[in-house]
Parts: sequence; structure tokens; C-alpha cells
Amino acid sequence: MSSQHPSIKENWFTELSDEHFPGQGFSLKVERILHHSRSDFQDVLVFESSKYGNVLVLDGIIQCAERDEFAYQEMIAHVPLFAHGNPKNVLVIGGGDGGVIREVVKHDCVEKVTLVEIDKTVIDLSRKFLPGMSCALDHPKVKINLCDGFQFLRDVAHAAIDEKYDVIITDSSDPEGPAEAFFQTEYFELLKAALNPSGIVIAQASENVWLNIDYLRRLMRIAHSVFQKADYCYTTVPTYTSGQLGLIICSDDCRLSITKPQRHPSKREQDALKYYNPEIHHASFILPTWAARLINDRNANE
Ligand code: SAM
Repeated sequence: MSSQHPSIKENWFTELSDEHFPGQGFSLKVERILHHSRSDFQDVLVFESSKYGNVLVLDGIIQCAERDEFAYQEMIAHVPLFAHGNPKNVLVIGGGDGGVIREVVKHDCVEKVTLVEIDKTVIDLSRKFLPGMSCALDHPKVKINLCDGFQFLRDVAHAAIDEKYDVIITDSSDPEGPAEAFFQTEYFELLKAALNPSGIVIAQASENVWLNIDYLRRLMRIAHSVFQKADYCYTTVPTYTSGQLGLIICSDDCRLSITKPQRHPSKREQDALKYYNPEIHHASFILPTWAARLINDRNANE
């Protein structure tokens, strides 16, 4: 384990990406580096920040921070799960930190959750340094597969894995590195092939309307070319550069209204949530005017 990291200078970690958000960066003050290594798949860093708790970074990009992670995990999990209303079989691709799994098992109707994570290092480090996220990885409904999510879906499509899913959540890292294939047409086609007829997929878009709206429009075009319905919603997460993250949600069931929950959380369920509620479910699909024009008009030029 090395004691320094190229993204840390004078005790400040800075997230930069010339390709996706040139000319800006996001910084957090570092108290101490807890882990730094190169796994078989990516550069892996965990540090203790001064204000946001422990932070997991893959290939220089923040994946989650203890203080605000619930804003991401709750929205990427509960928007599709409550929009579906009665999901029984759920697939999570990526998500080795366990935060999304923690949210999925809050739904009593879910009978089985499969986690497909390529990098065991992430799971091991999350168990050690992010116990609030990894706490449900050993839940009896959870099955962990250590393999490439793209290959896993190919196996489902070719019936080597005989299963279909009600909700599929792509909780991946960003397009550079092992998650690159998740942002291409073939991936969306594989997702569609793995869904039950009224199934819903959701994927983190790795961008938001301020950072790279052209990229989002390209992803939305792909989603619309594969699914009958595709929508964009977002969540606010201070430790993602510029404070927002887009989510793309799709279904082939035209009767389904994914912008509103089919089922509302019970009082017990709502009490266990910190970000999601039925109002924010609906509100997360409402965009500022300029962004709505560009995202919804597939022919518009910026
Ligand atoms: N919340 C995060 C975000 O939006 O930045 C994502 C968190 S989760 C840590 C992302 C996970 O996706 C990582 O653990 C990474 O190893 C995993 N991953 C990347 N490529 C993958 C692939 N091809 N198959 C399965 N998992 C993959």
C-alpha cells in the first residue's frame, strides 16, 4: 500500500476529468489515507476526509462518501423499486460498496437480490472502511457474483443463466475503466433481454445536466432506441463533481408510469429513509427549462 496518491496534494484530494468535465474540479480535505492499491481492475483509494467521513475513490473518481451516500443509494434503488410496485427478483450490477443492496433489502416483497461486482477488492474494503454501506452484503436474500456485469448479462441473454429480473440497477463506476461497456447500445439491449415484461432498469449516467449535457443526450438516444420508455431523473450529492448525478430509467411497459411510485412507502419504510419520499420521486424527473428542452428533444442542437 502506498502512502501517497497522485490526486492528493498538500492534504487535499481533487477529482479532475479532462474528458468529462474539463476546466473544473472538486476537492475534499484529507485527514489520512486508509488504503491505496492497484487492484486487477483499477486504482483503489480510501481516505478519511475531514467533513464527509470515509471516501472510496476508483481511478481518481469519487464513488461514495459516508456523509452523503444515502442521497445516491436511496434514489437509484427506491425510484425503480417503488415505480415497479412489487419487485421480487432484483439484479445490481457493480455496487460492491453494498449501499444499493442495503436499500433493496428494505423492500419486503423482494425475494432475491443478485450483486454482480467485478472487483473483490471493493467489497473487502467496504466491509472494512464503509460498514454503514456494506452492512447488508451478508443478508440471506443476497447472492454475490464476482464477475464482469457485461458478461453476466450476456450469459442471461444466451440462457446460460436462466433468470429474468423485475428491476436491474446499474450501480457502476464511470465509463473510463472496467465500466466502459455499460454506456453503449449493446449493454442496454442486454438489459432489455434480462428483464421480465413489466421490468424496470436504472443506471447511473455518470454525468449531470451542468457537467456534460451532450453526453446525457447521447445516452438518452441510446436508451430510447432500445426501450419503449426512457426517462431522466437526478439526485443531489455534494461529493459528486458539481453536486448532482443523473440517472437513466427505462422500461418496455408502456402502461407503467415510472415518474410516480406505484406503491408508497409504509410508515415503517419511510421512517427508515433519509432522502427518498414519493414527492421527491416525482420531483427528480422535473428539469430546469433549458435542460428539459435538450434532454427531451432528441433532435435539438445545443
Ligand atoms: N455510486 C457510485 C458512483 O456512481 O460513482 C458507484 C459505486 S460502486 C463502488 C461501482 C462499482 O462498479 C465498483 O465497485 C466497480 O468495481 C464496479 N464495476 C465497474 N465495472 C464493472 C463491471 N464491468 N462489472 C461489474 N462491476 C463493475
